[in-house]
Amino acid sequence: MALVVQKFGGSSVATAERIMAAARRALRAQQAGNQVIVVVSARGDTTDELIALARELNEHPPAREMDMLLSTGEQVSIALMAMAIQALGQRAISFTGAQIGIVTDSFHTKARIKNISTERIRQALNDGYIVIVAGFQGVDENYNITTLGRGGTDTTAAALAAVMKHEPPGNNEVDCEIYTDVDGVYTTDPRLVPEARKIDYISYDEMLELASVGAGVMHSRSIEFAKKFDIPLHVRSSFSDVEGTWIVAETDWMRDVLVCGAALVRDEARITLENVPNVPGISHRIFSAIAAQNIVVDMIAQNVGSKERTSIGFTVLQNELPAALAVLNTVTAEMGARIEHEENLSKVSVVGTGMRTHAGVAERMFAALADEGINIKMITTGDIKISVLVSKADGVRALRAVHRAFKLHEPAPTLATALPKKPAVAGSQSSRLPISIVSQQLSSMEDIVVSDIALDMDQGRVTVLNLPDEPGSCARIFRDIADAGIVVDLIILNQTSSQKAELSFSVPRQDVERAKEVAQKSASQLSPSTSVVADPDIARIYVMGVGMRTHTGVARRMFGALARRGINISMINTSEVRVSVVVDRDRGEEALACLREAFNVNNNS
Ligand code: ADP
Ligand code: ASP
Ligand code: MG
Repeated sequence: MALVVQKFGGSSVATAERIMAAARRALRAQQAGNQVIVVVSARGDTTDELIALARELNEHPPAREMDMLLSTGEQVSIALMAMAIQALGQRAISFTGAQIGIVTDSFHTKARIKNISTERIRQALNDGYIVIVAGFQGVDENYNITTLGRGGTDTTAAALAAVMKHEPPGNNEVDCEIYTDVDGVYTTDPRLVPEARKIDYISYDEMLELASVGAGVMHSRSIEFAKKFDIPLHVRSSFSDVEGTWIVAETDWMRDVLVCGAALVRDEARITLENVPNVPGISHRIFSAIAAQNIVVDMIAQNVGSKERTSIGFTVLQNELPAALAVLNTVTAEMGARIEHEENLSKVSVVGTGMRTHAGVAERMFAALADEGINIKMITTGDIKISVLVSKADGVRALRAVHRAFKLHEPAPTLATALPKKPAVAGSQSSRLPISIVSQQLSSMEDIVVSDIALDMDQGRVTVLNLPDEPGSCARIFRDIADAGIVVDLIILNQTSSQKAELSFSVPRQDVERAKEVAQKSASQLSPSTSVVADPDIARIYVMGVGMRTHTGVARRMFGALARRGINISMINTSEVRVSVVVDRDRGEEALACLREAFNVNNNS
């Protein structure tokens, strides 16, 4: 008998009528011959209301008590859902996270799932019950109630689907349906860009990146489970029967879609550390201190700087700024560095598998922003995403401009065949995990998975210093580089002072000198005070896996391993599926070996 996991979000259980509609849906699935698990969120705006209430009493509510409070929202929903199903004449039983043994770590308000026991659920299903599970919550080893982070019910659903699929061992038939208030995943949030279009199929990697750069329709950690345990997710409307969006493993045709979607994070803050010593171990000290607080660092732009000193810019979510600054005060005092920060920033990103193999996406994105007169304050690129930081006032306009530039409002996918092909990076294809190791992963479900580590010695770096910090600068440079037929991969831009920015990008090694000349010419036309330096002697090392950015421990382990070997990191670049660092070329092989050792990845993987 097949199993269906149905997840209903807050708006899908907001009223008695909607709960009844969801109950009928669950019943239909059971009558079609399936066993059914229903995972529910808190009703409507309950979670927001509970947070507001807590803040009325205590400006900084303790995280443990916050979890105790917030978990009640889901508990209300499961009881009501079970009652609704019983009113329809069917057997149903509700369980909290603790009751079915969803064991998490103890990071209150953003706990990660360690394991789930299936015994009690199996028993109830076999007895003919529809099983109702509270989303978003678990319990740590000391029986403290924990929650998984906002939007975490998606993650409960995907984790349950994963565990039910693989326990008992075998390939049990499991469907996972995510019911929400939109009829699928759109090219961007339809509330912000009304011309956004529903996507029929999207790969795990694309959805993972999109969710992690702001597409609030799915909790990004749910996609980690989907990918790790190969659970296709069907995101669809709870108000209609129309086919929704399938989040599935990557297929060939997806590799030709340059950009599948765009997203906005409204409230980011940038921290700049000035006058940082340019010596091995610095990134490790800075980012491990932040990671220890479980704060996710978002964009990172390390300037090339001088031999002795450099500056490092990065962003965090606005609401994590105070905590990040508090940790950094101590670290920077030790280094003699200075901290600055800027608030009211938004991040706009585009995501698409086609970027792995085709160039030209960044150029088109920067041109669209330049045409709108929007200044780019920071740029970082990932394996399949490009993010830019803009002022908050420009955020939605920037998102719209980018959406239009990639013709995301048009029905046909934008195929990339006319664009230049990027040189392949060893191991850069997304690798699927062998099912044989799945059972081992069930005992530490949300642990980081690193699938491959690769070295690329075929790129060099060009850096433009003193670039005017104004709309159109980057668009101009990348247009000229593209016109010269040079393929750009990594791009990092960061403001260095109120008027200037530093731009670094990587190009194939044999094109470094030519790229330098082209960049020099266009930069000098933008401002006579610019200068361009080239470094053909770099090595890039990629660590690939799932959920790389949100697992704060990855960067820590990576930077730590390099620091212990005395290898200096000159560029860092993070995404959910790949973290890469640039080091000196003559340390490339050594860095590769030391990272393989740190992550226990052998040479043949
Ligand atoms: P639920 O309570 O069902 O989990 P959410 O509010 O978490 O619902 O997610 C659905 C909302 O996500 C939509 O109403 C939409 O405004 C927003 N959203 C953001 N990005 C996207 C996107 N790319 N596609 C669809 N919806 C999106
Ligand atoms: N109720 C929680 C929240 O609002 C979890 C969820 O809805 O997924 O974030
Ligand atoms: Mg949600």
